[in-house]
Amino acid sequence: MGRPKHRKIYILLVILFFMAGVLLGIRYFQSKESVEIRKKDAASHIKKEHPMKIPKETEKAQRESEKVQEQESMETEEKAEVNITETQAGDVVEDSVLAQKGMEQFFYKEELSDEVFARMDGVSYPQNARIGRDELRYLRVLHTGFDGKTHIGELVVNQKIADDVLDIMKELYEKRYPIEKMLLIDEYGADDEASMSDNNTSAFNYRTIAGTDRLSKHGQGLAVDINPRYNPCVRTKNGITTVEPQNGSTYVDRNADFSYKITEGDLCLQLFSEHGFTWGGSWNSVKDYQHFEKAVE
Ligand SMILES: [Zn+2]
Repeated sequence: MGRPKHRKIYILLVILFFMAGVLLGIRYFQSKESVEIRKKDAASHIKKEHPMKIPKETEKAQRESEKVQEQESMETEEKAEVNITETQAGDVVEDSVLAQKGMEQFFYKEELSDEVFARMDGVSYPQNARIGRDELRYLRVLHTGFDGKTHIGELVVNQKIADDVLDIMKELYEKRYPIEKMLLIDEYGADDEASMSDNNTSAFNYRTIAGTDRLSKHGQGLAVDINPRYNPCVRTKNGITTVEPQNGSTYVDRNADFSYKITEGDLCLQLFSEHGFTWGGSWNSVKDYQHFEKAVE
């Protein structure tokens, strides 16, 4: 009786093992298949990201943005390779260029080149026997504009004060003292009023003192006017007050609070004084708040 029972159990066990084997086998192939499917999916997904499958417009945009990036990097290189002598007064100097070149190279003096003299000839510099071309120097400096950016400035001064003015401008720039514009007065046709009303800082401009044949301090290149619109020249004669420039009349009241005012304690006034200049704001007859001049030999 025991034997057939054992056989039944044996057969049952074999069937169970077989079924388990089949089940395991199925599971194994299923999982293998799903991995392959996943792999295939992934592969096709990658393919989707490939540019070949990208719609043309997107591709075009991508290519253009790559081009722009290339151009930008080229421009940065070009900026970095900026030739200082080819820059123009009024130009903005980028911080990256300054960082690479250093500020010292932007401050220099030179004899009036033919190019500079051509701008001045018959404009701020008429043919005359009082001041020679060789007595004047062309200065290149940096100044912080009212926009907070670094600009290239230019001045023509007497060679006797060239180093003083270079030093002063260097220190003003280092301390970020705001000076709006610094172009040769020839850019204004040597017209004082035009230059002053545009708040242009300048120095040499040939002229004689009214009623005399003596050269004025500007005519000798020994005077500099700083931010003239905010620091006008105020004259009172026979009870009549004149203000130069005319649009500087807003800034005649020196007790009023406004920017760019040259007054006691101002860095510009301090530096010019240290270099032996006289300030027009300290005169009694005329108050010329923009004006600094130096008496030499
Ligand atoms: Zn002046």
